[in-house]
Amino acid sequence: MRPERLEIAVIGGGLAGSLLAITLAQRGFRPIVFERRARYDATEPERGRSINLALAARGIAALDRCGIYAEIEPLVISMRGRMIHEHDSTLKLLRYGQRDSEQIFSISRTALNRKLYEIATRRHGVEYQFDSPCIGIDAGSEQPIIETHGRVRTLDADIVFAVDGAGSAIRGALEEFGALAVSDERLGHGYKELAIAPAPSGGYAIDPHALHIWPRGNYMLIALPNTDGSFTATLFLPLDGRTSFASIGADDVSAFFCEQFPDAVGLLGSLEEEYADNPTGLLGTIRCSTWTFDNRYLLLGDAAHAIVPFHGQGMNAAFEDVATLDELLDAHGDDFQPAFEAFERSRRADVLAIADMALENYAEMRQRVRDPDFAFRQQVAFELERRFPDRFIPRYSMVMFHPEISYAEARRRGFEQDRTLSKLCANASRVMDVDFELAERLVGAA
Ligand SMILES: Cc1cc2nc3c(=O)[nH]c(=O)nc-3n(C[C@H](O)[C@H](O)[C@H](O)COP(=O)(O)OP(=O)(O)OC[C@H]3O[C@@H](n4cnc5c(N)ncnc54)[C@H](O)[C@@H]3O)c2cc1C
Repeated sequence: MRPERLEIAVIGGGLAGSLLAITLAQRGFRPIVFERRARYDATEPERGRSINLALAARGIAALDRCGIYAEIEPLVISMRGRMIHEHDSTLKLLRYGQRDSEQIFSISRTALNRKLYEIATRRHGVEYQFDSPCIGIDAGSEQPIIETHGRVRTLDADIVFAVDGAGSAIRGALEEFGALAVSDERLGHGYKELAIAPAPSGGYAIDPHALHIWPRGNYMLIALPNTDGSFTATLFLPLDGRTSFASIGADDVSAFFCEQFPDAVGLLGSLEEEYADNPTGLLGTIRCSTWTFDNRYLLLGDAAHAIVPFHGQGMNAAFEDVATLDELLDAHGDDFQPAFEAFERSRRADVLAIADMALENYAEMRQRVRDPDFAFRQQVAFELERRFPDRFIPRYSMVMFHPEISYAEARRRGFEQDRTLSKLCANASRVMDVDFELAERLVGAA
């Protein structure tokens, strides 16, 4: 069948859906995107979704693959490391990597959605149908059902991409049919977004080129910069228990912040109102037994594998999904069936690995970054990377700055690195005291 004759439905015009539509259009297909929301240019950002996101090398590589990163780049702000805000308000910058190029980039979700939509529609003529949620799959024809302003219709698609996010309706329908099994592991912690306004004199109130973290053991506050001089702060807290969203009401929140995040209080101009008004988002990990159905459906992005946000990789992984599929369509001459099978085979171990690393990173961000031992191990890891660049790249750097190393491989090497660093740091308290002859042997074995 010639590509342009295929009917391709992309369910969900979010980050992965729009990038996928661009990629398919570049291959000569004519996908139609069905999106639940109203037109992007007519709507405010969805409340309760993260307002800004950290874009890293994997996401950039995927955007670059279809030649559009140059248009995204003006929207980003670089962040070179984590700025740790201690209880006593002292600041400590922990760099993400040791090279100036090793940075991640804050970007507005709305601006990125709009830009991708603009490229898809204006440059590639992709059709979007807004206000058109998928509400299920027809049991007889096994086709998606779309509802637009009360009018319900069943599609007649040859290929269906489910990129409708963590709460995917397609995934839900396929689960009901018994076509796949889903595990939805809830974290027990939620998040709430709060705004930090630009400084009264203009410009940023705190260093814009860092991801700010107030780590407090079982919970934390973070803040990422926006291009207008503001920051979006996010409070991550248990849902229940002694210090939790359930126990801290809007009346208590100022006292809680004064005690726990004293240097943030002056930055959060409408703390009580926002704490009361903004929704508490839930966090979890979705794992699916399969992402394909009937050689026709493929789940991608959060619909297939939503993860907790602590490695800043959900969107990056979703973009990498699109790039991987594009490579496989190259390899299989635009034949979707073998490409879908190969996609599932090649991607499964990677998304399971990043899901686990994202969970592990929560403990790192809210707790371990305060530990002097953590900073020391990071220094030793950087030194090993300097001395043995071909054999040692710290796990965080592999995930964030090395798209050529898969998530699964980064996790595997990360376990070995942990053992190596434990041995090398056991009898040393300064980098110069580390036994680098032993290091060479250990790293050689890794
Ligand atoms: C608090 C928080 C912070 C995060 N920070 C980061 C970060 O720093 N870096 C990072 O890489 N990732 C981050 N993420 C993860 C990131 O948001 C997701 O991984 C990313 O949005 C996934 O893209 P997607 O296109 O698969 O899903 P979405 O972006 O969720 O897009 C899904 C689209 O489908 C539409 N839709 C939903 N249901 C239907 C339906 N039934 N029919 C039709 N359309 C539908 C939605 O309206 C939406 O447009 C964060 C997530 C959270 C919650």
